[in-house]
Amino acid sequence: MRAAVVRNFNEDLSIETVSDPSCPDNGVVLEVAACGVCRSDYHGWTGGHPKVQNGSILGHEYCGTVVEAGPSAKYKVGDRLIAPFILGCGSCVACHTGVSNTCAQQIVPGFGVPGAYAEFVAVPYDHNLVYLSDTMSPALAAGLGCRVTTAWHALTDRADVKAGEWVAVHGTGGIGLSVLLLAKLLGAQVVVVDIVDEKLEHAKMHGADATVNAAKVDVAAAIHDITGGGAQVSIEALGIDVTTNASLECLATLGRHVQVGMPSGEGLMQVNMRAIYAKQLSFFGTRGMPSWKYPRLLEMIERGDVDIRPMVAREISLSDASSELRAMNGPTAPGTAVITEFKR
Ligand SMILES: [Zn+2]
Ligand SMILES: [Zn+2]
Repeated sequence: MRAAVVRNFNEDLSIETVSDPSCPDNGVVLEVAACGVCRSDYHGWTGGHPKVQNGSILGHEYCGTVVEAGPSAKYKVGDRLIAPFILGCGSCVACHTGVSNTCAQQIVPGFGVPGAYAEFVAVPYDHNLVYLSDTMSPALAAGLGCRVTTAWHALTDRADVKAGEWVAVHGTGGIGLSVLLLAKLLGAQVVVVDIVDEKLEHAKMHGADATVNAAKVDVAAAIHDITGGGAQVSIEALGIDVTTNASLECLATLGRHVQVGMPSGEGLMQVNMRAIYAKQLSFFGTRGMPSWKYPRLLEMIERGDVDIRPMVAREISLSDASSELRAMNGPTAPGTAVITEFKR
């Protein structure tokens, strides 16, 4: 099969013919219909993720059709499926108690095992997968496995956002945009922070109540003004210290910070502990979403409760993935790129 392989960090992915994946006993092989290009891939591409090395195939936000099923697979050949990026084992305490996104035996294609920047991907633990309806386009569905679901879990399970609250979101990539759309669905007021005016305009067009350009003003002061005393919830969507601190500092007393952005490298940061202490803040980490929450979120999207189409800016070919990763070295345009053409 054709695959985009990491050979040297920060250099173009190498488009190679590699052997087709073998089918796991407890899972399936998907013919990939779409795979999102995510900032977590960028961390791997730059050498900032311990599980991405020479020979790795990135790609953790994918959907596709089953072309081979193992003897103990749940699904069968021909099923169209979306995968959560975290595949829980299904038999440990975490998986049995509804938090499969914390499973210690979890497998994440793209990080440690081959991902979906390829024509085919092997998916073990296929009970995590959910049906993709005929009405949802693969490009739209691809982002659901990571960004939309991570944002939904951060808002509903971690921050427990209430209607009328102010939610600040720092960074308007895939996560940030998802947070905006879903927080509006929950009835929150949303202030969006970025350093690119074009992205702030885009966020305004899609429902942001206010925007702040972090390159021009003091973010925390601006958000205190806009919200009349600070946001109740703040979502950090980049994984760097400047936005983590802006997030903590923009919160009102008893506010809730959710760290969604994946810190790269060792993950050490200088964090404003005084803000946490003095304002008695809550600090949540979050990663992914348990697979049992997928069907209901999918239903909401299919019903039209929320329109996630603004998420997808570009459909690209496999050989274009490198330039998308390279573009993340600097400020990027609104929306995300999804690979939907694997022959080129
Ligand atoms: Zn992702
Ligand atoms: Zn498990």
